[in-house]
Amino acid sequence: MGKLENVFSWSFSASHDFEECRRRRYWSKYGSWGGWDKQAPYEQRKAYQLNKMDNIYSLQGRAAEEAVVWVLREHQRGVNVTMDQAYETIARPLMNRCWKESKDAAWQASPKKFCCLREHYYKLWDAAKEKERTAAVVQHTKNCIAHFIDRVLPRLADVRREDEVDVTHSDEGDPESFLFNGVKIYAIPDFVYRKGDLLHIHDWKAGKVKESHQWQLALYGLWAHVKHGIAPEKVCCFVEYLTTGQVAPFAFGPEKMEEVIARIGESVADMSSYLVDEDRSRNEPVPKEEWELAEDESLCRYCNFYELCKPELDGVL
Ligand code: SF4
Repeated sequence: MGKLENVFSWSFSASHDFEECRRRRYWSKYGSWGGWDKQAPYEQRKAYQLNKMDNIYSLQGRAAEEAVVWVLREHQRGVNVTMDQAYETIARPLMNRCWKESKDAAWQASPKKFCCLREHYYKLWDAAKEKERTAAVVQHTKNCIAHFIDRVLPRLADVRREDEVDVTHSDEGDPESFLFNGVKIYAIPDFVYRKGDLLHIHDWKAGKVKESHQWQLALYGLWAHVKHGIAPEKVCCFVEYLTTGQVAPFAFGPEKMEEVIARIGESVADMSSYLVDEDRSRNEPVPKEEWELAEDESLCRYCNFYELCKPELDGVL
């Protein structure tokens, strides 16, 4: 295999990180690059390890989302399953495995292969808090699955496997992306299918309602247009809030497409200004110190990279 190249790329979550804290984007895209090599300098290896770290809420979201996909697949092969079956078969084993790996610090052998939860790593919980939060996470995951079965699945009941559009997820290698104006853009919608001459895009959300979700789905609309040649007016988007079972549908359309293109353009230009000579083909970052720390220090409490920034945040550097 040839040498891996750190190419300039854009994604919705990358732009969110960059907006919240420039330094976080530096760590996740540049400071951690190559940190999988055991011979790499300490800071690089640490950034890589912290970049791979999970947290209980993202784990909960993954467990709920994997469980609802399993429910959907079972339905497609003619088997109706209950919430308890989906929880016991998919969500619980996943959460238990990650929890154990994290508690046992298995990630020390391979941060990529084994789960590390931020709550364990930074010792954010005492025993009472841990008990209370894990019970809440279990209940929330069950609620999400139950809402999917009761309120979402009936709307998707007729979708056949052959109507679906394949999307490459991160556990399958380099995730779904497309090239737009010479920039590699990651876009990983959860569930996409053709319905007549329309393309339906659904994204599962196991957390709170956020305005940004509409923009994320609009990015997927652009992906559908660029990668699959679907006219923007033929793309329908659905944000599926599993916490309540409610859906936020909207039509994509040419106007939304122009807006999302403009947003991406602005964000790519801002990110490029942190590269030497703003040269995206070289993709060489300006020195770390020029990537500002978060203006809002309350963000640091919930950030994977806190350990690396702490000396600077404390004014020790
Ligand atoms: S710890 Fe704070 S300053 Fe450092 S990357 Fe995270 S949010 Fe930014």
